[in-house]
Amino acid sequence: MTVLVTPKALTDHKVRDFSMLIDGKWEPANSPPIERIAPGHGVVVSRFPAGTRADAERAIAAARKAFDQGSWPRMTASERSAVLLKAADLISARSEELALLDAIEAGKPISQVRGEIAGSVDIWRYAAALARDLHGESYNTLGDGTLGVVLREAIGVVSIITPWNFPFLIVAQKLPFALAAGCTAVVKPSELTSGSTVILGEILLEAGVPAGVVNIVTGTGPEVGAVMTSHPDVDMVSFTGSTGVGRQTMVSAAQTLKKVSLELGGKNPQIVFPDADLDSFIDAAVFGAYFNAGECCNAGSRLILHKSIASDVVQRIADLARHVKVGDPLDPATQVGAIITPQHLDKINAYVAGAQAGGAKLAYGGEPLDFGMGQFMGPTILDAVQPEMAVAREEVFGPVLSVLTFETTAQAIGIANAIDYGLSAGVWSRDFDTCLTIGRKVRAGTVWMNTFMDGASELPFGGYKQSGLGRELGRHAVEDYTETKTLNMHIGGRTNWWMPQNEKLA
Ligand code: NAD
Repeated sequence: MTVLVTPKALTDHKVRDFSMLIDGKWEPANSPPIERIAPGHGVVVSRFPAGTRADAERAIAAARKAFDQGSWPRMTASERSAVLLKAADLISARSEELALLDAIEAGKPISQVRGEIAGSVDIWRYAAALARDLHGESYNTLGDGTLGVVLREAIGVVSIITPWNFPFLIVAQKLPFALAAGCTAVVKPSELTSGSTVILGEILLEAGVPAGVVNIVTGTGPEVGAVMTSHPDVDMVSFTGSTGVGRQTMVSAAQTLKKVSLELGGKNPQIVFPDADLDSFIDAAVFGAYFNAGECCNAGSRLILHKSIASDVVQRIADLARHVKVGDPLDPATQVGAIITPQHLDKINAYVAGAQAGGAKLAYGGEPLDFGMGQFMGPTILDAVQPEMAVAREEVFGPVLSVLTFETTAQAIGIANAIDYGLSAGVWSRDFDTCLTIGRKVRAGTVWMNTFMDGASELPFGGYKQSGLGRELGRHAVEDYTETKTLNMHIGGRTNWWMPQNEKLA
C-alpha cells in the first residue's frame, strides 16, 4: 500500500488577492475574479483578476511603446545583465513565499517546488551571463570591396504563455532570455496558478525593469491568450502548454506571420535492456513516472522493457512505488502531491479504465485516494500495454506508468518512435553501442542515458514532431529572441550594373 500523508486543513492561510501589472501599474480585479481552489486542500486560496481582451490589448500597447521608445532595448547588455542578476537575488530572497504559492495553487510537494525555485534562480543568472555574450558575426573575407556584419537585434514584443504544471520554472525558461536580448513582454500565466508569476512582476520592478517592459495579464486562454497570439503588434509568441492549444497558437500567429516557439506535450519512453544497472533504473522509473504526480511533459510514462526482464522489473517497480509518499503538498516528506483539478482526475481515471477494458493489466494502484479534501491519485502501473492503445500514445498527465515489451533493438526503436510526440527518451544499458544506437535513432529532443530527467541551464530543451518547435535554455536561448540583420558594406568605387565602366553614356 502507498504511504499516505494526510493533508492538514489550511487554517492559517489567508486568501491572497492578486493584481495584474500593465505599464508599470498594478490593477486589481474590477469584475468577479478567478478563484483558485487548492487541489490538495479543497479551499479557495488565491483570487486573480479575470483579464479581458481590452486588458491584453493595453498590455501589448505598453510593451510596444516600451520597445519602440523606451530605455530597455537601448541600454547596454551589461546594464540589462545587472538588472537580471538583481532579479535573481530577489527571487532567491523570496523563494519560500514563491514555493509556498506554487505548492498550494498547483498542489505540488513543497520540497520539490523549493528545488524548482532554486533552479529558476540559476536560469535567471545564466540568462544574465548570456546577455553580455550576445553578438553577431563579421565577414572580412568577401573581397577588398566588401565588409559583411551580421547583427543580432531584439525581435520586439514577445507574448509569453505558460501552463500550470511548473508555474515559476517555465516562465524562467522564457522571460529572462527575452529580457536579455532587449525584448519587452506580455506574460500570461495559467489561470490556475498565476500567483508566483504576479510576484515575479513585483520582483522585476524592484530589480529595475522599467515600466511597460514586463506586463502580466491574468485570465483565461480564449480571452487573454487569444489576443496575445494574434495581435499585429506582437512579434513573437513563446508558448508552453498542450499540443492542441500549441497548434491553435500557431494558426493564430500565422495571420501576421509571427515567430513561434512551442514547448508542448510528451509521451516519453524509457527503453531498458537486460544488461542495465537495474537498481538504478528501478528508482529512475519510479521517479520518472510519479515526479510531479506525472503531470510533467517529460514524464517517463512509457516503459519499453526487454521481454526477458519485464515481469521482474514490473514487480520491483511496484515494490518501490509502495514506498512513495503521497498526500499533503505542504508536508516536506511528500513526494507526490495533488491532481490539478477534479476534472483532470476524471480524465486520468478514464485512461486507466479504458486501458484495462482494452486488455492492459493493472499491476499496481489505479484508484484515486480519498483524504476528505482535494483530489489525489497514487502511483499506478499498467502492464501488458499494447503500442496502439490510447494509454501508450497519448499524454495521460497523471501518475500512470504504461509497460510495453520488446525483443530486438529495432523493435524497441520502432515502438519508441511510433507516436506523434518526441520530447524526451531514456535508454538503460551498460553497453556503449546500445546507448548510442538508441540515442541516435530515437526521435526526441533529449535522450538520457542511464539516468532520467536530469537537466541544466546550459542544455537545450525542446521537442521533435508534435512536442514542439524550437529549443529553450542552452547558449542559443537568447538568440531565439532576436532577428538577424545583415549589414553589407561597400568599400571604394562600385562597378556599375547597367553600363560597363569603359562605355560612355549615349
Ligand atoms: P494548456 O494548453 O491547456 O494551457 C497552457 C496555457 O495556454 C495556459 O496559460 C492557458 O490559459 C493558455 N491557453 C489556453 N487556450 C488558449 C488559447 N486559445 N490561446 C492562447 N492561450 C491559450 O496546457 P496546460 O493544461 O496548462 O499544461 C499542460 C500541458 O503543457 C501538457 O500538455 C504538458 O505536456 C505541456 N507542457 C509542456 C512543457 C514543455 O516544455 N514541453 C512543459 C510543461 C508543460
